[in-house]
This record gives sequence, structure tokens and C-alpha cells, in this order.
Amino acid sequence: MSLSYPLFEMPAVGIYLIVMAFMFGAIFASFITCTAWRVVRGEDWKLGHSHCDTCGHELSTADLFPVISYIALKGKCRYCGSKVPPRDLIFEIILGCLFAGTLALHGAIDAMAVAALALEVLLLGLSLADWDSGVIPDGFLAAILVVWIMTVGFMPDIQTYAIEGLIASASVGLVMAVITAVIGKVKNTKMSYGPTKLAMCLMLFLHIKGACVAVAVGLVLGIIFALVCKSKKRKMSLAPAIAIGTVVALLLKDVPVLK
Ligand SMILES: [Zn+2]
Repeated sequence: MSLSYPLFEMPAVGIYLIVMAFMFGAIFASFITCTAWRVVRGEDWKLGHSHCDTCGHELSTADLFPVISYIALKGKCRYCGSKVPPRDLIFEIILGCLFAGTLALHGAIDAMAVAALALEVLLLGLSLADWDSGVIPDGFLAAILVVWIMTVGFMPDIQTYAIEGLIASASVGLVMAVITAVIGKVKNTKMSYGPTKLAMCLMLFLHIKGACVAVAVGLVLGIIFALVCKSKKRKMSLAPAIAIGTVVALLLKDVPVLK
């Protein structure tokens, strides 16, 4: 099945769509950072308005416009004047740029591009949740699996796509599970299999070729993140390293999902 809209047939339309992609990226970043925040605190992620963390005042739509609200309010709460940390703004800009870059590199709007964008949103959410709590919530992993299942039907060669994905997922999962078990045994501690499960979900999209890129980048960043966590005496968080490795593989277009 192929439903595809070429981006640069009319350059002006292409540029307009890329600007729109940036805005959608920023909006989704705003949504997913809030979702991750609520999941980590055990709150219902579907319900309720956002509120100021200092004064608790409910935020209006004007306060929630990604990037623009932060700049217009000079990084302060409209109601109590307390400083709002720039973290959310930074992630809105990053995801906006990622959305724009992904579409520009892919050159068309189709199911595969939408899947890559969905993956980027979920990776941001689970990375933030892992960084804040040291746990990768299973809900994010389930959502990644749903995205994969939905893309399978749009692939020109469904069988190869599905089988290669499953082989990559099983191989990387096996290696990571063994490494995790060995480290747990050596350190005599209970290790989390969250990063293994996450890598298994992502390899479904990346296949072996993309997996090599993601693992190489993820490994280097993983060591850096592990050292940072250790020096700050905080829980180990490897999801951000795995997520960045995956995004690099996606942008290098070395994966079937964005060919
Ligand atoms: Zn406030």
C-alpha cells in the first residue's frame, strides 16, 4: 500500500510543510514531556490540565503554546512569576528540529515518515521518564510495538521487513540480556531489563544495518551517560543513549522505515 505526498514537487509548499513539521514537533514535545512527567509521578496521563509546579495555578491555552509562550512570558509563570526551567523549551526546539529534519531528509509525507515521527515522540517521552525515575515505563514500549505493527502493513515487502526486524530484535535482545545478566551476577545486584526490552522494540524498525549504527552510537553515549549518573549519584539511565543512537540511525536513512 503506498500513500505518499512528495515534499519538494513545489518548493514553496515543501518549505511550508517543513515549518509546519517544526511546529508539530514542538507541540508533541510539549505533550510528551507532560505525559512523561505524569507517568513518573504515577498521575493519570490522560486527564487534567497542566499546572504551574510552584503555585499550582491551572495553565490556560495561551500559557501552553510551545516555544512562543515561554519566550513571551520570559520563562516565568504568568500567575506567580516563578522561573520556569528551560528544559521543556529545549526539548520542544529539539523535537521541532527533528520533525523538520526527518521530513526534509525523507522528502515525502507517507506512512513511514509518520512512523519515524511517532517513534521520535515516544523516544523523547521514555528517555525523560527514564532520566527522572531510572525506569522505562512499559506503556511507552507497548506504544512503540503498536507503531511497528501499524507500519508493517504499509511496507512493499512485508515478509522481509517483518522477518528481518524480528531477527535483529532477537539478536540484539539476546546479546543485551546476556550482558545484563553477567553484570548483575558480577556486581551481585538486580539489573533492570528495561534497556534490553527497549532495544528489542527499536530493532524491529532498524534491522541489522541500522542496529549497527544505533548500537555504536548508543554504546559511546551509554558510557558517557553511565559516568554522568555515577558522578551525580543518581539512578542509571540508559534510555537517552539508546534513543539518540536510534535517531541517528533513522536520520542516516540506513533503515527500511525511512528508505
Ligand atoms: Zn506559578
